[in-house]
Amino acid sequence: MATEQVFDFIIVGAGSAGCVLANRLSADPSVRVLLLEAGGSDFNFWIRMPIGYGKTFYHPTLNWRYQTEPDAGTGGRPSYWPRGRVIGGSSSINAMVYVRGQHADFDGWAALGNPGWSAADILPVYKRMEDNLQGGDAWRGTGGPLTVTSMNGSVHTLADDYLKAAAAAGIPINPDYNGETQEGASVYQVTTRKGLRCSSADAYLHPVRRRKNLEVRTNAHVTRILVESGRAVGVEYLRGGVKTTVRTAREVVLSAGAVNSPQILMLSGIGDASQLSALGIAPIHHAPMVGRNLQDHLGFDYIYESSRPTLNDVLRPWWGRLGVGLQYVLTRKGPLSLSVNQAGGFVRSRPDRPRPDIQLYFSPLSYTRAVPGKRALMRTDLFSGFMLGISNCHPKSRGEIALRSADPFAPPLIRPNYLSVSADLDELIDGARILRRIAAMQPLAGLIRREIVPGPTVETDDEMAADIRARSGSVFHACGTCAMGPEPGRSVVDPRLR
Ligand SMILES: Cc1cc2nc3c(=O)[nH]c(=O)nc-3n(C[C@H](O)[C@H](O)[C@H](O)COP(=O)(O)OP(=O)(O)OC[C@H]3O[C@@H](n4cnc5c(N)ncnc54)[C@H](O)[C@@H]3O)c2cc1C
Repeated sequence: MATEQVFDFIIVGAGSAGCVLANRLSADPSVRVLLLEAGGSDFNFWIRMPIGYGKTFYHPTLNWRYQTEPDAGTGGRPSYWPRGRVIGGSSSINAMVYVRGQHADFDGWAALGNPGWSAADILPVYKRMEDNLQGGDAWRGTGGPLTVTSMNGSVHTLADDYLKAAAAAGIPINPDYNGETQEGASVYQVTTRKGLRCSSADAYLHPVRRRKNLEVRTNAHVTRILVESGRAVGVEYLRGGVKTTVRTAREVVLSAGAVNSPQILMLSGIGDASQLSALGIAPIHHAPMVGRNLQDHLGFDYIYESSRPTLNDVLRPWWGRLGVGLQYVLTRKGPLSLSVNQAGGFVRSRPDRPRPDIQLYFSPLSYTRAVPGKRALMRTDLFSGFMLGISNCHPKSRGEIALRSADPFAPPLIRPNYLSVSADLDELIDGARILRRIAAMQPLAGLIRREIVPGPTVETDDEMAADIRARSGSVFHACGTCAMGPEPGRSVVDPRLR
């Protein structure tokens, strides 16, 4: 056991949230901050190059590579859940599409008794954090640490056909879905800077790494929070086989993500007391909502064969890959500098819905033969193909994260409970019909040779439901497992996140 040290703040997890916290807390030079991260450095070509997330998707060390439990909602299949295990966390391996929450999401939080979280409260924070290269206005900010780049002008020409078809299907074109309203069809904005990924670490952590009052320890796997007299006083972590405890004069900040934050709380004796006791963990605080209220977006793609060349035709032949590789290395431009989710938007599954509940995705490439375990972003189909996809925005189904055992290195149990509320399935069926409506409109319709997946045999609601259960999967947006709220029995932290 290594000697104890004392910090003012100990932050657990250097992901999207942890990097921001490390920056903001260490801005006061009199405050000593320790940032602990289970993964290692983010100095990696596949992290830097935007399309490299196809490589980090199953990476054995940069990624926790979780599998959920078999889930009845998805026909008994488990889902693959990548999560970043590296400086920058999931922001180092994600698809970079920059989407703010809907105004009504935040107003809903405030209405539930969480002061300070309304859309009006959050807007100045959103504006302050971004450097929107399209410029600032009443909704958008410039000069902030997180660079936001519109893919407008860089996307495949088919994205324009998608937008025109969406407009013909009655979906308005929205030039800025992060502005006044999210609703409509749009080209996506991404968190990239000069053709490189701009992760939370790039935006917030690396610029302040030299601060003397900020210490970052990588490969430090936190095994539990130390609690004395009802207060968190430090953490215990393992690094290179050595167990170390560090103590805090002020606070432990847990930002290990929706899977690992509840896991660490439960390992520390904070959770459902009876479940913890059953695993041999002494409960120190009965908090039954820890790990519960798990929410995730579920999505799927429809795959089309196109009569016009798509990105498949560029990325499939070796000379095409060489060409875009050279283009990227020499200019930091081209398809390798973008997300594959080039366009999309937000729509209502039915006209009477109060706000958008379906997210759309247009990707100018396809992989019908993707092998699980290998995400073939550069190994596309042999024909010219593209994908239209959807995911839900406000699923009602709730799952949970639970401990498998008292071993801090055992992956936790993930039970998403997808589609356990039938309205979620109905909404996705309606969403799939919107996809087909867009595909039936010109100019897209004129380019489509055939719908390959799921294909014309899937037509009725029952057939579409079966297809969704058979093919849908996580779009990797897990949240809600340490819920905020005013009532301790129904939440984990209070509106000040304590
Ligand atoms: C493949 C993929 C694609 C995505 N695409 C998008 C997208 O296009 N747009 C979008 O908005 N969102 C996207 N997301 C979601 C988004 O990236 C996450 O919601 C967000 O990064 C979560 O931030 P976080 O700070 O909660 O957790 P994370 O960023 O995951 O950070 C948690 C950190 O804690 C560390 N940690 C965990 N356990 C321990 C421990 N015991 N000890 C020490 N450290 C620990 C982890 O290693 C990690 O670095 C995507 C996610 C994935 C995985």
